[in-house]
Amino acid sequence: MAVEPLVLVEKGALTSEPPQSGPLVDRFGRHLEDLRVSLTDRCNFRCLYCMPEEGLPWMPDAQLLTFDEIERLIRLFVEIGVREVRLTGGEPTLRAGLPDLIARLGAIRGLESLSLTTNGFLLKHLSRPLAEAGLTRINVSLDTLVTEKFERITRRDALHRVLEGLEEIERYPSIWPIKVNAVAMRGFTEEEIIPFAELARRKPYHIRFIEFMPLDADGTWNNDQVLSGEEIRQVIHAWRPLVRLQDDTSSTSRNYVFEDGIGRIGFINPVSEPFCSTCNRIRLTADGQLRTCLFSVEDTSLMGLLRAGASNGDLERTIRSAVWRKELKHHINEGAFFVRPNRSMSQIGG
Ligand code: SAM
Ligand code: SF4
Repeated sequence: MAVEPLVLVEKGALTSEPPQSGPLVDRFGRHLEDLRVSLTDRCNFRCLYCMPEEGLPWMPDAQLLTFDEIERLIRLFVEIGVREVRLTGGEPTLRAGLPDLIARLGAIRGLESLSLTTNGFLLKHLSRPLAEAGLTRINVSLDTLVTEKFERITRRDALHRVLEGLEEIERYPSIWPIKVNAVAMRGFTEEEIIPFAELARRKPYHIRFIEFMPLDADGTWNNDQVLSGEEIRQVIHAWRPLVRLQDDTSSTSRNYVFEDGIGRIGFINPVSEPFCSTCNRIRLTADGQLRTCLFSVEDTSLMGLLRAGASNGDLERTIRSAVWRKELKHHINEGAFFVRPNRSMSQIGG
């Protein structure tokens, strides 16, 4: 697996001070414009690559950011440079009143994109309220099209519900694109490749394979379990020629279409082809911790400040300072240098 060549030049030392106005930047000059906000650490699935089969105590309700706190923080983030917000979890659709929150956030001036990442289990009934609330983009996670394998990976018998949810969301064209994310694992995903490719030809979905990362709560990840995006791309290309699309510079996925299909296929390759040098993401956990990398080993408590009565100015200074110190890159492929984060994916917000 590849270690990303260092193409970033340090523009300020770790100890130096960030600019107190202008865009939200780190000391390598990356502009942080994409904020992932976790609404809960709870989930109604228990995906093998994310949560343990049992256990993992939930955060107490009182420890979760309220909708008022979330809105205040997102307004501030947008004022200082964030352009895109993605709501995630845990499973964000478990948060009561989600459409109300989406309507509130959708009204924030300067926020160019508001999206939701969900396992799709509740979409059949939520699609209409989400569309009416003004949701404009969605990602649905789906790793297999086979009922038994779905049950094995999520530890829930729910494939039919997720497929129904996808069908339902298609009825609301204001929610676009519909992205379908599949975690690619060696020994599991190989036989899913062509069925997913066929789905992307037949349906208007953007299907993206994401390499399995060491964020599983069980801590059993190893490099041999990663099925690389390039391996998958070659299998699909041998089946039907793929045509490369021009991606945005900050896009994490390499995207393709078929000459005779209506959807897209994408590859997100954080392990085999890290994209840290163009990373524009930061994360806010459900309990109000700012994390500057999926693999951060420390976080910055915005919740603590909020509840201590901090002003927006105090919050902004803390955010700018944390973002300034954003990690250069992850160390997944660097053996002993890699330190597992203290939270698993469902507790961070993927
Ligand atoms: N529950 C929602 C869902 O599954 O879409 C949102 C939260 S989930 C943590 C967000 C995304 O992270 C999902 O697409 C999931 O497949 C992905 N994910 C979770 N654990 C992962 C891992 N170890 N490696 C790669 N992707 C992972
Ligand atoms: Fe839940 Fe999403 Fe994690 Fe699966 S990936 S256990 S659906 S949070």
